[in-house]
Amino acid sequence: MAGNYTLTIIKPDAFGSGKAGKIIAHLEQQGFRILASRVMHLTQAQAGEFYAVHRERPFYGSLVSFMTSGSCMPIVLEKADAVASLRTAIGATDPAQADAGTVRKLYAESKERNAIHASDSDENAAREARFFFAESEILAAR
Ligand code: ATP
Ligand code: MG
Repeated sequence: MAGNYTLTIIKPDAFGSGKAGKIIAHLEQQGFRILASRVMHLTQAQAGEFYAVHRERPFYGSLVSFMTSGSCMPIVLEKADAVASLRTAIGATDPAQADAGTVRKLYAESKERNAIHASDSDENAAREARFFFAESEILAAR
């Protein structure tokens, strides 16, 4: 299964402004298939743990506040070479630097409020998928 799936989150800026449907349609058009999904409002503890790798960064507190500011939508997506393919599809962290046609160029507000998360390695995709979903939920759709 490694290499064929990744974890995305439609972040609170995009979910709250009604862009989830457009973003999912955009990704499905590029060949991603939804394996598992839910709508949830992250707690401070969940957001802090999810982005723990950034704990020492100056933007960490603000990032956790943003990620807990409203509902979001974690989704496990399947596609060949899923991690790299989704990173390309979402574009650079800062929408001002993102390529034309990427999710962040189309839908992000700012470097922090940037519409979407994507796992950055197969190892993190596995960890992050299990952060939100039981293995049985992911396997059910395969
Ligand atoms: P993500 O992990 O959410 O997919 P990314 O891998 O493109 O994003 P990271 O460096 O992992 O970028 O940063 C995680 C998130 O923290 C970014 O998506 C953004 O929301 C926020 N962030 C990163 N750098 C900054 C910054 N300099 N100022 C404000 N927010 C930032
Ligand atoms: Mg990242």
